[in-house]
Amino acid sequence: MKKWRLEKEFRFEASHQLPHHDGKCKRLHGHSWSGRLVCESDSLQMSGPQQGMVVDFGRMKLAIEDLLENHLDHWHLNDSLKLENPTSEEVARWIYEKAKPKLPELRSVMIDETCTCRCIYQPE
Ligand SMILES: [Zn+2]
Repeated sequence: MKKWRLEKEFRFEASHQLPHHDGKCKRLHGHSWSGRLVCESDSLQMSGPQQGMVVDFGRMKLAIEDLLENHLDHWHLNDSLKLENPTSEEVARWIYEKAKPKLPELRSVMIDETCTCRCIYQPE
């Protein structure tokens, strides 16, 4: 855990289907998903427009915005993420890998599939 931790929340509605599941998740169904991008750092930027920040919250928003529009919100995740079995774990990793190049400070992605189920992907 570093000294500063920033979280940017996002929400999307999407369907998915888990073809290998032995219960009801095998059927096509949807969720109101929510998630967070988490950035961490031990230092703040020393100059420029982001002086005093780990990263501008606006940059965190930009990193997730086009993923929401083009792949997540009101999409069928099996198709839009090209994942055969889009569990929360796989969706969190997919978002991390897509957002990381635009947001080098990204440390983890949290995905809430329901109000009581949360997955956190943190590769290092
Ligand atoms: Zn589900």
